[in-house]
Amino acid sequence: MEPDVLIVGAGAAGIAAARRLQALGRSVRLLEAGRRLGGRAWTEAAQLGAPFDHGASWIHVAERNPLTPIARRLGFILRDERRRVRDILLWRGQVAGAAERAAHDAACEAWEAAAEAEDARRRASGEPDIALAAAVPRDGPWDATVSHWFSAIISGVEAERFSLRDYVATALDGANLQLAEGFGTLVARLGEGLPVSFGAAVERLRWDGPGVVAEGGFGTLRAGAAIVTVSTGVLAAGGLRFTPGLPAPVQAAIEGLPQGLLSKIALRAAGPGRLGLGAFARLGRSLDAPGDAPLSWMLWPWGRDHAIGFLGGEAAWALAREGPAAAEAHARAELARYVGAAEVARCFGPEARGPGAVVTGWAEDPLFLGAYSHARIGCHGARAALRDAELAAGRLRFAGEACHSRLAGTVGGAWESGERAAGAVHAALG
Ligand SMILES: Cc1cc2nc3c(=O)[nH]c(=O)nc-3n(C[C@H](O)[C@H](O)[C@H](O)COP(=O)(O)OP(=O)(O)OC[C@H]3O[C@@H](n4cnc5c(N)ncnc54)[C@H](O)[C@@H]3O)c2cc1C
Repeated sequence: MEPDVLIVGAGAAGIAAARRLQALGRSVRLLEAGRRLGGRAWTEAAQLGAPFDHGASWIHVAERNPLTPIARRLGFILRDERRRVRDILLWRGQVAGAAERAAHDAACEAWEAAAEAEDARRRASGEPDIALAAAVPRDGPWDATVSHWFSAIISGVEAERFSLRDYVATALDGANLQLAEGFGTLVARLGEGLPVSFGAAVERLRWDGPGVVAEGGFGTLRAGAAIVTVSTGVLAAGGLRFTPGLPAPVQAAIEGLPQGLLSKIALRAAGPGRLGLGAFARLGRSLDAPGDAPLSWMLWPWGRDHAIGFLGGEAAWALAREGPAAAEAHARAELARYVGAAEVARCFGPEARGPGAVVTGWAEDPLFLGAYSHARIGCHGARAALRDAELAAGRLRFAGEACHSRLAGTVGGAWESGERAAGAVHAALG
């Protein structure tokens, strides 16, 4: 039977849209190209012997995140990680002393404050958006490191190519909650029981008739309306075609919101040693030369026997091209900077690509083509433009993390965006 609404993609936005539409009395069908629920929220336990989030793992801005009360209600085990103190911080290869730590912390605060102040000044005076890199301190000893951490790793893109206004508008302040069971577990749980067709890649959406028609290997499906939740990376690459083609402003909004990249490299301890560090230990080091790209580390989450290195931006794209063996070797070499190569071999086993090493693959996967969106310089309005685009008299809409002006790049943003699009197509259907 023809559903009221087709939803393309069963990630957080698609699941939220489906639940909201069902609550409004509408019939839905989710078309998911992959074989699982959750999209970029994906927990998998087989490779490390414990839940590991390949994608999202923190409920960011937890105070206003729609997933916080849901996770609490469902009894998930949560850990507040507001504190970001490094258990080991290296300054030019040596363990940082009190003075270097104080300088590091001051540089972090000054960096954030400068971005906010410059953005506020420009908005007040009507001056245009600029690159984040042009607004933040550059000459202090820790400034390049802080840029690398806040922009390339956390936002997945170098500050030189990131809109200042978008960075400030979507800043991840407040509490960050981790889930012992995994964020992907929560999102998949919320999708249970929904009418999903897996392996159903939508190749073309037609919106020139009275309804919307999806075409793919599954055949042809008609509905009164559709919500598209695939990443802006997939949309920009033409992974889903539209007939008629998208209006120029919508296409421009998609191209103004490219995907950045965050990669995780997880290593599982082979023996009893834990490098002398406790659960959730954090390691970081200074960026010591142009082109250097330190990993940020979290060790032994929940007391489990794996360590996770985070790498973002250009360095992550480069390692994705080189493949997982190169990524693992890089991660081992990075860890050796803190504890020495012999200790790394003793803890994780001697060989690269050992059992239990996991390298995430978001860049290469054609269903994602990156981790999350950022606005190009001057494109800060693109999120609202994509969110508000009403095609086919409001019966074809976009949703997903890229469409949220405050919680962009997060599961919570995708969730709220899906709910909002659901309300809009419900109204358009009359
Ligand atoms: C490494 C990493 C770390 C992250 N960390 C965090 C974090 O700590 N906290 C946080 O809140 N967020 C984090 N995020 C971001 C968060 O995961 C995403 O913002 C969010 O999950 C996006 O949800 P979505 O529904 O918008 O898109 P998606 O999850 O991408 O869902 C879209 C779905 O569409 C499907 N699809 C693609 N093409 C087609 C097609 N042609 N036809 C049918 N289906 C298709 C895809 O398979 C996918 O399931 C992280 C992401 C990554 C990659």
